Amino acid sequence: MTHTHGYAAFDPRSPLGPYDFERRTPGPRDVSIEILFCGVCHSDLHTARSEWGGAKYPVVPGHEIVGRVTAVGSEVTRYREGELVGVGCMVDSCQHCAGCDEGLEQYCLNGFTGTYDGIEKETGRTTQGGYSDSVVVDERFVLRIPQGMDPAAAAPLLCAGITTYSPLRRWKVGPGSKVGVVGLGGLGHMAVKLARAMGAEVVLFTTSPGKREDALRLGAHDVVVSRESEQMAAHAASLDLIVNTVAAPHNLDPFLALLKRDGTMVLVGAPAEPHPSPTVFNLILQRRSLAGSLIGGIAETQAMLDFCAEHGIVSDIETIPIQAINDAYERMLKGDVKYRFVIDLGSLKAAA
Ligand code: NAP
Ligand code: ZN
Repeated sequence: MTHTHGYAAFDPRSPLGPYDFERRTPGPRDVSIEILFCGVCHSDLHTARSEWGGAKYPVVPGHEIVGRVTAVGSEVTRYREGELVGVGCMVDSCQHCAGCDEGLEQYCLNGFTGTYDGIEKETGRTTQGGYSDSVVVDERFVLRIPQGMDPAAAAPLLCAGITTYSPLRRWKVGPGSKVGVVGLGGLGHMAVKLARAMGAEVVLFTTSPGKREDALRLGAHDVVVSRESEQMAAHAASLDLIVNTVAAPHNLDPFLALLKRDGTMVLVGAPAEPHPSPTVFNLILQRRSLAGSLIGGIAETQAMLDFCAEHGIVSDIETIPIQAINDAYERMLKGDVKYRFVIDLGSLKAAA
């Protein structure tokens, strides 16, 4: 067993605080990782506060992990001690269902094991995430951080990056595509960068007029304040794909109306309460689709990391010590983050 220091939520309302726990004894296929950085995803907050229900407390959140390999099991072939690696939202899956067979572990029919708030097969205990100083992960769920990539700014790629990359690929975005991104937060700013790098024309939809300059700098060709109907109307029936990253329920109709015939709006934002049901006519009149997408498979996550390295893409981050996590959650709720908090886990040692 590996003694681990971390930060946990203990119930839906109290602030996160220090929590010590044991990681499993590493097995032959396991990679032991000293965690250096962990991104702060809005899903961490949803889970810490049990907004989706059923959180298994204490919960140590964090599924945007970058760290250094400290040891490998006897059967590990892909990683060596000292290498910089990543861990995203999954640490295990059944490996034999239709989803896993296609490398779509996130759609494992027997349920993948989440990096936190999941059940570890080896021990039957709750998995604990990256707001901590070490983790033990089966090598099949470990990613390689490309040479030269800034480790802190790479961390958010492990969730925000793959969650937006996967639908952009699935809906075949490339030169000639016109892509809308709704919400300029952690996921949204990655969607803008990735869609732009894939060659698309990118329109960013925001509720925050103050994010305009940033959105243009990040790669958007146009920025629309979604509450301004005239600005919205300028893009009517023109978009091939919309990636909607908003973390709160809202009216989907004004966005569906911006899709051209056969266009799709894919929901990746996962609010705790449902969106109001959209008007059916917004779908049937131009044969539009409303879809959803969950993170991405392991092979696709590696492809995304390599794509980012090739295109010089990382996340725009604000590094924080773990002690600032509760304040960071409040700021994330206000949309006051440019555009991802990343915890420097060195701060845990400093406090110990
Ligand atoms: P985030 O950084 O908080 O960004 C969400 C953005 O949504 C905000 O920056 C804001 O952008 C916009 N927004 C508009 N109205 C809002 C409101 N009332 N409350 C909150 N946000 C509002 O969050 P994130 O980490 O990108 O995550 C976004 C959502 O995706 C979360 O629900 C998260 O759980 C989910 N998620 C899903 C997956 C998946 O696999 N599908 C993976 C990771 C995360 P503007 O200021 O530009 O309007
Ligand atoms: Zn996430």
